[in-house]
Amino acid sequence: MTFDLLVTDATVVNADGRTRAHVGVTDGVVTALLSACSAPPAAVRTLDAAGRLLLPGGVDGHCHVDQVTGAYASLDTYEIATVGALHGGTTTILDFGIPADAGERPIDALRRKLDLTRGARCDVGLHGSVVTWDDTVPGQLDEMAGLGVRSVKLYTTNRGTTMADDDTILRVMREMVRLGGLAIVHSEHDAIVVDRTAACAADDHVGIEDLHRTRPEISEDASVREILAVASYTGAPVYFVHQTTPGAVDAVAEARARGQVVLSETCPHYLLLDDAVYSSATPEKYACCPPVRPRAAADGLLARLGRGAVDVVSSDHSCYDLAQKREHRHDVRRMPHGLPGVETRMPAAYTAMVTRAGLPVERFVEAFSTAPARVHGLPTKGAVAVGYDADLVLLDPDESRVVDGSRLHQGTDFSPFDGMELRGWPSTVVAGGSVVLDEGTFHDPGPVGRYRERTAFRDPARRSADPVLGAVVGAAR
Ligand SMILES: [Zn+2]
Repeated sequence: MTFDLLVTDATVVNADGRTRAHVGVTDGVVTALLSACSAPPAAVRTLDAAGRLLLPGGVDGHCHVDQVTGAYASLDTYEIATVGALHGGTTTILDFGIPADAGERPIDALRRKLDLTRGARCDVGLHGSVVTWDDTVPGQLDEMAGLGVRSVKLYTTNRGTTMADDDTILRVMREMVRLGGLAIVHSEHDAIVVDRTAACAADDHVGIEDLHRTRPEISEDASVREILAVASYTGAPVYFVHQTTPGAVDAVAEARARGQVVLSETCPHYLLLDDAVYSSATPEKYACCPPVRPRAAADGLLARLGRGAVDVVSSDHSCYDLAQKREHRHDVRRMPHGLPGVETRMPAAYTAMVTRAGLPVERFVEAFSTAPARVHGLPTKGAVAVGYDADLVLLDPDESRVVDGSRLHQGTDFSPFDGMELRGWPSTVVAGGSVVLDEGTFHDPGPVGRYRERTAFRDPARRSADPVLGAVVGAAR
């Protein structure tokens, strides 16, 4: 057999260990891992890894693409976001069909996104979202499940736009139990956020330099504990997006110890940055919710990531530019929040986890690819192994680059990591067996991305088959 592609002499790093191998690819799938001591077999194309690290392509379970939120539209398309993703070693992204307001039906928001995914350059999956409960929601969730979507985002904040009330959250959780799905929750205590923001506004301190004061850590910790209680009551598995405080992660760990199925995600900006950025010359580059926290919180998150209490590092990519960020920089209530990051997730997470915190590359691979593939029901992603998709990233751990967001490919003019020297950039990226980044040169594959239907989070009939158990075992290694 002649392989379509052969990556020779690679140090293959998976979440569970590493091996030196030649990796053979046929029809977009990894079909052989051969001893690196053997002579490389024939292949249509050969890439020499020369001992460099070969990782599974990144799975970014939390991206916002071509999104309209209130008065602001993000600036990217699926083409732009996925070209950025591929440049950054991510070969699968998941986006959300979020209703524009309480008037849009969740299934319509999802189908709108499904149409847009046709422009994607890499594989794409979707999550749903519910803002307001009514009697048609269960039927809409059945329809979503038929489209391979069994995860629903719920916001506990953003009153008047995407916020779901307590009844909606509880009922959607029950539906997720019925469908073997996953409740995905943005957890900040809305009343605390609204009260604190009003107090800051009364003092005329509600500009972007005050963002971290308007959304204190307790607003996240309190909301996470409330959601965990409702999850315990309904029996629903819950995935918390962008956890930023040690207290919130510890609440998740305690719930797990009690037997709840709960997952924790954080983002690179909560690991690498601290709230001194709001005193910098360009605080608008860090307009995100929750805000960037004090250094002690970031270090606390890294420690918890190291011991597996945080499962996943996603980007929470949102493409706005500095002009949009600056239009209402004196009032955080009117600014577009969210940071570009699909392209920098790999180097930013690698630098935080491996270079700074000294964690093994295997732990990085788990958070960057393996855990998100498992949690989001993508069984052929997340490992370099026979039978898995040929989504491969070649990495030279000694190479570092200084970030210049204006020269990245994310469709905006800045990065929250501007000026930082990061390691962990991909030099070559293979997506579905095609070499899309070849030692730094990009070859646009065209709109080849596949919409990926996702398997159930767990079989509703077999509650014990919990993907999270894999995460716990993986963390114990
Ligand atoms: Zn988000």
